Amino acid sequence: MTVLEVRNLKKSFGSIRAVQDINFAVKAGEVFTIIGPNGAGKTTTLEMIEGLVTPDHGDIFFGELNWNHHANTIKKKIGVQPQSSAMFDLLTPEENLNLFATFYDQARSTEEILQLINLTDHRHNQTKKLSGGQRQRLAIGLAMISDPEIIFLDEPTTGLDPQARRNIWDIILQLKEIGKTTILTTHYMEEAEKLSDRVCIVDQGKVITLDTPSALIEKLTKEREVRLSFLDGALAAEEANLFSEKLESVTRTEREETLLKIWTTNPEDTLYDLFGFTKEKNYRVEQVSIREMSLEDVFIAFTGKEWRD
Ligand code: ATP
Repeated sequence: MTVLEVRNLKKSFGSIRAVQDINFAVKAGEVFTIIGPNGAGKTTTLEMIEGLVTPDHGDIFFGELNWNHHANTIKKKIGVQPQSSAMFDLLTPEENLNLFATFYDQARSTEEILQLINLTDHRHNQTKKLSGGQRQRLAIGLAMISDPEIIFLDEPTTGLDPQARRNIWDIILQLKEIGKTTILTTHYMEEAEKLSDRVCIVDQGKVITLDTPSALIEKLTKEREVRLSFLDGALAAEEANLFSEKLESVTRTEREETLLKIWTTNPEDTLYDLFGFTKEKNYRVEQVSIREMSLEDVFIAFTGKEWRD
């Protein structure tokens, strides 16, 4: 069952096109992870879905619900990890949770949340004395206090040491066990691989690819990019595009005027079929090239352009 669907999301800030065209659907109970380089548009995408930023274009559906008509119902369905600054430093974790619980008609018990985020032993310490990892766990607890169906976690492990990171992973896996849907962003490939049911790779405000971690790895290691340019104009390239989209080994295509780019798991068969098509139509192909997927492609696709820690 689809719990969230976004279609053609777009958002610019002045001349910066932060989100250019984002489409995906999230299924109930899955951990859905958005990864991508710095500035790819992950946070802006999440903030539009969370109702914090208004999209310039596109639709966001939580089942039948949308922000224009059902904002109050959506707010009850979703839990957003608050910024660290939204917590009260002089209060204890228990007091912060109790306070956030008063914002909602219905809330989970503080006791239960403290256990889930493994902060029972620190319940009476002032929040300002917590470590980075403990603060992040509290932030997840605060997102969970209203017992939402969908939880949004924007880079919950950035800057944490490996042990603290693993503690957060445990919580995310527990959320899955109790049937919650988690939408996560991260810079860490290992994290995306370990936790996610599906990973959506975003770059320059667009979805590059979306699949299970194992299928993505498989795809990246198997796929080749084939480029053909057509002497007979954009229409010829478009016809070849429509033809190649139907070929079995072709995973996606892109056309820029007379240039056609095809990603295929079997370049030989794809080219053989395509040349059959161009010969039949009498279209002349000017240039053909096959680009290997490099380690850099894998790196960019899975970890982003910069490694941040
Ligand atoms: P990171 O991994 O670095 O957090 P991100 O993928 O979350 O990046 P966004 O934070 O969504 O990316 O930013 C996308 C682009 O939009 C960036 O170029 C960013 O500078 C710009 N941007 C985001 N929010 C604003 C804003 N409020 N005003 C102006 N520009 C913005």
